[in-house]
Amino acid sequence: MFSDKNSFKDAYLEKFAEIKGKPIEEGTLWDKYHTLVVLLKEEISLCRAFTNYAENRPSKQVYYFSMEFLIGKLLHNYLINIGIQDIVAEGLGELNIDLRDLLAQESDAGLGNGGLGRLAACFLDSMAFLGIAGHGNGIRYKYGLFEQKIVNGYQTEVADHWLKNGYPWEVRKPDKAIVVKYKGNVRAENLKGRLVFHHENYEPVLAVPYDIPIFSYENPFLINNLRLWSAEPLSSELDLALFNQGNFTQALSYKSEVEAISYILYPEDSNLAGRELRLKQEYFFVAAGLGAIVRSYKKSHGSLKDFSQGVSIHINDTHPALCIPELIRILLDEEGMDWEESWNITVDAISYTNHTVMPEALEKWPLDLFKNLLPRITMIIEEIDRRFKEKLLRRFFNSEELFESTPIIKEGQIYMANLAMIGSHSVNGVAKLHTEILKKHVFKDFHRIFGYKFTNLTNGVNHRRFLLTANPALSELITEAIGPGWKTNAAQLAKLHAFREDSSFLDQLAQVKYQNKVRLAEMIQEEQGVLIDPHSLYDVHVKRIHAYKRQLLNVLKIMELYNRLLIDPEAVQGGYTFIFGGKAAPGYHYAKSIIKLIHSVAEKVNKNPGIQDKLKVIFMENFNVSLAERIYPAADLSEQISTAGKEASGTGNMKFMMNGALTLGTLDGANVEIREAVGDDHIFIFGLTADEVLTSNRNRTYKSWDEYHTNPRLRQILEQLHSHHFMENAQEFRAIYDSLLLYNDEFYVLKDFESYIRTFEEAAARYELPKKWLQSSLHNIAESGIFSSDRTIREYAHQVWRVRCRRIE
Ligand SMILES: *Cc1c(COP(=O)(O)O)cnc(C)c1O
Repeated sequence: MFSDKNSFKDAYLEKFAEIKGKPIEEGTLWDKYHTLVVLLKEEISLCRAFTNYAENRPSKQVYYFSMEFLIGKLLHNYLINIGIQDIVAEGLGELNIDLRDLLAQESDAGLGNGGLGRLAACFLDSMAFLGIAGHGNGIRYKYGLFEQKIVNGYQTEVADHWLKNGYPWEVRKPDKAIVVKYKGNVRAENLKGRLVFHHENYEPVLAVPYDIPIFSYENPFLINNLRLWSAEPLSSELDLALFNQGNFTQALSYKSEVEAISYILYPEDSNLAGRELRLKQEYFFVAAGLGAIVRSYKKSHGSLKDFSQGVSIHINDTHPALCIPELIRILLDEEGMDWEESWNITVDAISYTNHTVMPEALEKWPLDLFKNLLPRITMIIEEIDRRFKEKLLRRFFNSEELFESTPIIKEGQIYMANLAMIGSHSVNGVAKLHTEILKKHVFKDFHRIFGYKFTNLTNGVNHRRFLLTANPALSELITEAIGPGWKTNAAQLAKLHAFREDSSFLDQLAQVKYQNKVRLAEMIQEEQGVLIDPHSLYDVHVKRIHAYKRQLLNVLKIMELYNRLLIDPEAVQGGYTFIFGGKAAPGYHYAKSIIKLIHSVAEKVNKNPGIQDKLKVIFMENFNVSLAERIYPAADLSEQISTAGKEASGTGNMKFMMNGALTLGTLDGANVEIREAVGDDHIFIFGLTADEVLTSNRNRTYKSWDEYHTNPRLRQILEQLHSHHFMENAQEFRAIYDSLLLYNDEFYVLKDFESYIRTFEEAAARYELPKKWLQSSLHNIAESGIFSSDRTIREYAHQVWRVRCRRIE
């Protein structure tokens, strides 16, 4: 790699001339960005050759199968990971190029909806960092998650054509393509007493891989791979023949039908997309990924007998659960193994992470759809189910309830979580509370059968992206104080506790936060023309918009504050800036009216001259990874207020915490563990517990009208919601009003309202005591080390994948 800015500059100019064929002065920003990426990619692969990858190859490969990878931008992170950011910035500077302009050229690869996809991206970094040969396997969607544009306060969706200019990080590998087979029929043949199955008359689709290098911080060991598959027609005589016969439309429709498979990312979050195309997508990246893994394993090992000792297949939620029948199919039909052996290898190789307890988000598919689209896979699932029930009958012959909840196929539907449960050796929840809920409720019966399979692996986030890169000022301050060790070992952040009483350090911490807040204020002013005060409390609620995440509860709080201020302008001490961001699924009307409500309240509040300097409400358009990296470092208060028991873990909560925000939250997901880490004095907890919610649901004791009748403040707000108070059209928020009263407030918004307001006020009062606040902020940063995904991945490596981390620390 470049030793100084001059050697970088020379290499850069040479590369520019080589690939652009024009003088640098005539280059566009894109040309300059493109050249930088190409240069880095080449240098990175030289490093790999240099570290003698083949010889150092660890014994076991991990493949992380995920429908989503929300990787965001790579260039900035990679410059920091390689350690050449300064050299590059200075070198470019001497060529009159601002590195920041080039960073802005990169498109935000938004191949995911939210937390689940971002988790997969954080894991890729940590696997590379720890020296695990861990690779991602997913789909190269032509269109990423839609771009959100707000028009008149309403969300509109614009296609995210992230590949428009090309994506210089990826490398197309047509020689590594795999044929994926759909539909057709299965013919059984009796070959010397053994039944052999042939899949015939299928529709072939060519899966072509695109590889993106994963290069983590100071990694002297290896470069991992994110492999994304693209669907292409198998260029055959068939469509050429059709063309020649003049059947242009038929030939073209075959082409577009195939390409549709990797066309769009379903913009559904915690929700079931029940469409044939979605099932095609799921089988597509499973069959392509496993096909390539098996091919490469056979090349180096000859047979698949010891496959599970050399390979771990991890399935991120149930979307890749078809890995189970597909691996069995390969071992059975292609390798000629018997069922027992195929089954044992498969279970031993595969592990599964559950991400949700919401019933509507647990995948199920009509059996008929399966039979038609994946005939051989369906037969294998039926056989897994049959054998499972047979064993169950032997072990639990008089436990009827088990036979109701655990089968894979029930009433003409295939239950993917049950398939994943039965066909893997490990299932984990993503936070302690979530894992407990899985054991006690969602998978209660499975827990009786397969107690030994359950583990908890609390999520984590890549602190090198969300702290080191996203918050350079704070990172510098931390490094000055405790040295650079925290970058490679986040637990060292605990050394910051020593600065608790150091007023000059606390002053600097305050300065850093203030600067980050100023930067965000400037961005908001530029984009929306709204002036916010960086001295005010930034109360931030950014994540997907969902009923269970209760953005509504936050809005009701703002309405309440507003009502109070109208009566008494001195009712509120300091100034508050409420910042929202997040996308709603395009078909999720309820979530979309929440976005509209936020804008209507903002309109009213921000324009009232009497309370201008007390309250501001901001909605930031198009929340994605890049925007997240701007927002988390500027937050004072982190809103994590989901209905207890609904949020599996949350990872936004961890990113806020490591940037020094204090959490205002319910005892849900990883908030529980954040509280354990920081103690009650440094977090603001309110509301029902998960147990209380469950009990209330079971006994049906909650009546939301009671809250309405007994709480006049709440009543006033609810009436404003369906009057002309915020909208010309009083019907606009009818669905919200009805959800709270007519449909008895499924998410306990009204129930938690009072304790939420009270606890917010406690937090706001604490903010008026700067020293105490700063100490809590420091305390949160110091305790955030356990929420690094490095810790999470070490746990996966030891407990689930049984693979060694080459980095010892
Ligand atoms: C971290 C992150 C999320 C997840 O946020 P939660 O608060 O855990 O729901 C979603 N989107 C983006 C862009 C993120 O960076």
